[in-house]
Amino acid sequence: MQGKLNSRLSNKLFFAVMGTALLMGLLLSIVQIMLDARQARKSLETEAQQILAMMKEPATQAAYNKDEILAEQVVQGLFRNNAVFYAAVSIPEKPPLASEFRNKNIIPYRSLISSIFGQELSYTLELRGIAPGAENQGRNELFGNLEVSLDPSGAAHEFIERSKTIILSGLTQAIVFGSVLYLIFQGLIARPMTSLLSSLEEIDPMRPAQNQLDAPRGHEDDELGAWVQKINDLFKAIEKYNSKRRVAEAHVERLSNYDMLTELPNRNMLLRRIEQSIQDANHQDDMFAVLYCALDDFKSVNLLHSYHAGDKLLLTLADRFRADLDPTHTIARVGGDVFAMVIPNLDNHYQAADVAQKVLDSVRRPFRLDNHNISLSATIGITIYPHDAATADQLLKNAENVMQLAKSQGGNNYQFYVANVDQRIRETKVLERQLATAAEDNELQLVFQPQVNLVTGDVRGAEALVRWHHPERGMISPIEFIPLAERTGAIVAIGEWVLKQSCHALRRWLEAGFHNLTISVNVSAIQLHQSDLVNTVKRLVRETGIPPQHLMLEITETAVMENVDLAIRLLKQMKEIGVQLAIDDFGTGYSSLSYLKKMPMDEVKIDRAFVQDMLEDPDNGTIVDAIIQLGHSLGLSVIAEGTETLDQIKYLQECECDVAQGYYYSQPIREDSFLTFLSHQRSQVKSATQRAAKSTSPVLNKSS
Ligand code: C2E
Ligand code: CA
Ligand code: CA
Repeated sequence: MQGKLNSRLSNKLFFAVMGTALLMGLLLSIVQIMLDARQARKSLETEAQQILAMMKEPATQAAYNKDEILAEQVVQGLFRNNAVFYAAVSIPEKPPLASEFRNKNIIPYRSLISSIFGQELSYTLELRGIAPGAENQGRNELFGNLEVSLDPSGAAHEFIERSKTIILSGLTQAIVFGSVLYLIFQGLIARPMTSLLSSLEEIDPMRPAQNQLDAPRGHEDDELGAWVQKINDLFKAIEKYNSKRRVAEAHVERLSNYDMLTELPNRNMLLRRIEQSIQDANHQDDMFAVLYCALDDFKSVNLLHSYHAGDKLLLTLADRFRADLDPTHTIARVGGDVFAMVIPNLDNHYQAADVAQKVLDSVRRPFRLDNHNISLSATIGITIYPHDAATADQLLKNAENVMQLAKSQGGNNYQFYVANVDQRIRETKVLERQLATAAEDNELQLVFQPQVNLVTGDVRGAEALVRWHHPERGMISPIEFIPLAERTGAIVAIGEWVLKQSCHALRRWLEAGFHNLTISVNVSAIQLHQSDLVNTVKRLVRETGIPPQHLMLEITETAVMENVDLAIRLLKQMKEIGVQLAIDDFGTGYSSLSYLKKMPMDEVKIDRAFVQDMLEDPDNGTIVDAIIQLGHSLGLSVIAEGTETLDQIKYLQECECDVAQGYYYSQPIREDSFLTFLSHQRSQVKSATQRAAKSTSPVLNKSS
């Protein structure tokens, strides 16, 4: 840096000091010369006066005596002085007694000299005296004049020579003086500055206080030393400020890039990691996967336990992922119960599937929480770069979409994004729009699945199940469209339609002479919380004139658990109308005895999943038995759904289950078929049930 200075301080110093010294030297010399000129002129005049004084006596003599020879001698005497170029002794009114003239010396700078000394110096000395014999008169008589003219050139020549010397020595002194001054300045200012400059270059701007500046030697106690001290203090202050800022920045960094609970990267950071992976993959010409992993039913953990417990579970889960996955995989938390992973350097899709399976296994391992064993499941959507999207954002979004799709198909699984997923999502949107008008377009239909009293063998009633006859796609299962309707809110209109149709159906059955039938209607969580369900039910009961206790509303366990207090309030209002309430899919939603006690329920419906393999899986058998005992202890009736075999019926009877519903008796059937079922097969159903109780095993024809 020093080398690059194109305007160095020392150069400036040099020119300033030298310039000033030379100027001063010149000025002083000029003053000296001027004084010398005055002196030279004065001595010229003195010299002239001396010459005249010397010649006064003989000249007066010559004038008095009119002695031409003496006058000539006086003139010659005067001419011995080289400066004299004219001399004359004259007497009044007569030609001069003697005079002489010679040419002036030819010299350079005549005009300069004239301006200082004049062209010439002319003097006239009156020659007076007292004539002999007139002494007593005392009169000084004029005898004549002595005239002399001097040429100053000789003196001027010497003056000029002297002037040259003066200027030369003046300038020499100035140069010497200037050099000394320059060296002093250089030593006092420029050199310490240069050394400060080079030690400043050593300073690390990030940690300025690490290398302290040293005061130049000998300057420790002067202004320079104080300056260095101040700079060092400033550096310390900067360093302190810097380190505080770094801490703050790091904190902000963490806040904006990491999840505070699990300390995993957040969505922000994940997107950046994906971007980095895109670059790496482009560079190495390979693929990577993005996994979007959402827990299937995390909400109920928070509800049943506490948010603190939920947090603990998420922390455990994060630790499991860290332990189970490869360190090269990025694990992020991108939402309350959503994690995401980036799996780099894939050779094929199977590797991504393996990791997804690992993640599912990690989630499925039971958690111990508040002395309970909790099991969770998750659904994972997988996108592969470069096949499924070109940008980080789109990769994540597509993975989320495919996760949602997989979830709507039951969850607890992983699914790859494929090109037609987009198409399917679009189709779903179309379906959602059509669903909004399905009821008014007469595309919905109810089917009924008989429910049989396991003690008497009587058909207790039926569950109403909705069907959608799509004009182009044909029959669409409620498993597919109910979640869509719940998402769009169309479930409110559909649910009201189902309720109304069910009430009318019951009305018709009553009119047909079946007085003891109960109709079970599914009520969705959204319907329960978002619509004025109580008033709707009240109005429909009034309009159709059905006995309200013959209407049973099935509410899933998870719907109730979403907001327990609100649910209890709504259910109590429902009970005031007189309808019955059943808790549907019981056993899947972690509800505990204490909750069940608070609910104004009439019936518990054991979930199909437990019934289906209760004979093969002793655990499920125990659960079914326990639910039945629990229900009874709370004064509730218990119904088992999904009963398909006689052995299942027998087991349920042994456990004293009250009611059963399932393919063993009948699939869901149209109303006319149900009425036929009621009239013609009543006795058959009854005897089949009774025979089951006696451990014989006739098989009942499955109706459809
Ligand atoms: P869900 O309430 O658990 O209904 C019982 C489901 O189990 C019905 O399926 C029925 O066909 C099926 N099922 C009955 N017996 C057996 C059996 O022995 N074995 C097997 N494997 N399955 C059996 P569906 O009709 O497809 O309904 C599916 C789900 O759709 C229902 O589950 C319910 O959650 C929902 N759903 C149906 N209709 C409505 C409705 O009107 N409103 C609301 N909100 N949801 C409805
Ligand atoms: Ca149901
Ligand atoms: Ca069910």
